[in-house]
Amino acid sequence: MLFDSHMRALLDASVALVNALTDGEARGRPYAAPEGVERVEAVRAALGAGADLTSGEAAHLARTARALRTVFEAVADDDLDTAAPALNALLRETGARPQLDRAPGEPWQVHFHGSEDSYAVGWSAGCATGLAMALGGDYAGRLGVCAAPRCDRVYVDVSRNAGRHFCSTACQNRVKAAAFRARRTGTDD
Ligand SMILES: [Zn+2]
Repeated sequence: MLFDSHMRALLDASVALVNALTDGEARGRPYAAPEGVERVEAVRAALGAGADLTSGEAAHLARTARALRTVFEAVADDDLDTAAPALNALLRETGARPQLDRAPGEPWQVHFHGSEDSYAVGWSAGCATGLAMALGGDYAGRLGVCAAPRCDRVYVDVSRNAGRHFCSTACQNRVKAAAFRARRTGTDD
């Protein structure tokens, strides 16, 4: 299944929201999701939102992010029977629906909207749809949680060979360095 740029944008947004707005661990350190003004800034950074983003919408998107995290975690555990109903609930709740949109000079494209076009509902519906399309297609196994120690940030593996295990090169390098140290210790024994 080929993902067009809109679908890729929705998957990227899902990852960015989960990683910015859910508690846990990030790249070896505890991570506390921001609140208040910092949460609004985090959503702006994650989605490229404008100055009119409200704290209520940021709070709404934080709830969405926590729901999306349960989906990533279930898929990473090969538990699609838990992931699918969680996504279905979010699709229902947001009123996710396709719509043909066209930017000036561009062809018509299917985009995903929510029951209304507020920022929070629109992105929540879009992210839920993007993950549903991935989970119900060839990309089911591509949703992941970082395999590095003390990190639970998520990713979507869009690499050709589907060989991704980490949220970032920072975590990949941490694990490589630890493996190297372990090998050296083994040799010295
Ligand atoms: Zn990581």
